[in-house]
Amino acid sequence: MSDTIRIPTDLLPSDGRFGCGPSKIRPEAVAALAAAAPQYLGTSHRQPTVLFEVGALRNNIAELFSLPDGYEVLIGNGGSTYFWDAATFGLIRERSQHCVFGEFSSKFFAASAAAPHLGEPSKVEAPAGTHSLPSAEDDIDVYALTHNETSTGVMMPLARPSGIADDALVVVDATSAAGGLPVDLAAVDVYYFAPQKCLASDGGLWIACCSPRAIERIEAIRASGRWQPAALDLGIALDNSRKDQTYNTPALATVFLANQQLRWMLDNGGLAFSTGRSAQSAEILYGWADAHASATPFVADPAERSHVVATIDFDDAVDAKALAATLRANGILDVEPYRKLGRNQLRVAMFPAIDPADIEALTRCIDYLL
Ligand SMILES: *Cc1c(COP(=O)(O)O)cnc(C)c1O
Repeated sequence: MSDTIRIPTDLLPSDGRFGCGPSKIRPEAVAALAAAAPQYLGTSHRQPTVLFEVGALRNNIAELFSLPDGYEVLIGNGGSTYFWDAATFGLIRERSQHCVFGEFSSKFFAASAAAPHLGEPSKVEAPAGTHSLPSAEDDIDVYALTHNETSTGVMMPLARPSGIADDALVVVDATSAAGGLPVDLAAVDVYYFAPQKCLASDGGLWIACCSPRAIERIEAIRASGRWQPAALDLGIALDNSRKDQTYNTPALATVFLANQQLRWMLDNGGLAFSTGRSAQSAEILYGWADAHASATPFVADPAERSHVVATIDFDDAVDAKALAATLRANGILDVEPYRKLGRNQLRVAMFPAIDPADIEALTRCIDYLL
């Protein structure tokens, strides 16, 4: 397939960004940032204007997820990857168990395994394209789940495993899920994510919804005197978040754009609206792949097929790499598969900001090229 094929303009989506992160930022949010810039960007993060924006972020998150009583929203710098390291210091007391079924879930396991002050973590593994489930085990004080495994396009159900210790924590990586998949936060203790996926903002922050049990753990580890690097210290993050601040300077544009997306979600009906958009896109894309002679959803079980990240396999007659390159040449970006998965596949984000009509247009463009 030559990259000189031009897709007719009337087939093209209105926005060509289908990447899994950083992902599409709505133009309206960027315009609002430009309008607010003279009084906001380049101003002190210890003054009321920015404190208000950070406070709004915490409140908007609380509203979107209908936070149960006593839950608190913590914010820190560095994104979800830094949160894994923070968790090895401030959440895991002794040993964690990890459901590992792809690249991201395996990285938190690796962070815990490498921490010299922790016991050997337990791994419950499943092959790429499906998920494992946590199960009660002696001496485990953190159960690590991944709501959506972005590398494979698998979503997993969230529930507190039966028979686990009363003070054990269920800690969920929701980086690509938060805002795009339904969730009942009462079932989990920590639901953490970063804003460059469903929140349609830029990267560099982590946000964690923490239950009273999780707050208690953070306080107890702090009281134990365990050494923690200050920038990864969840006790310090807790103190600062309660004052609508971060320990060090946050990216002001990232905070602002996340609030724009959250307001857009909340003003249109909240989590039911935003997860509904992703569900609609998923129905369109998987429906198209199921009906197509050369395409198949990579995830075999329809219940495990993610509503926010679709992975679509192609048969040998189609060169998915060339397909992605030709789409790219036509302004349709970032549908390449996760590199380490190494399949003849396209991976497509279906985050709430992405218009289901554009997912439909994408299928028409692929059909045209095939
Ligand atoms: C993107 C992603 C991460 C990494 O997020 P960063 O903010 O880049 O650290 C972690 N987990 C999942 C599931 C992701 O999709």
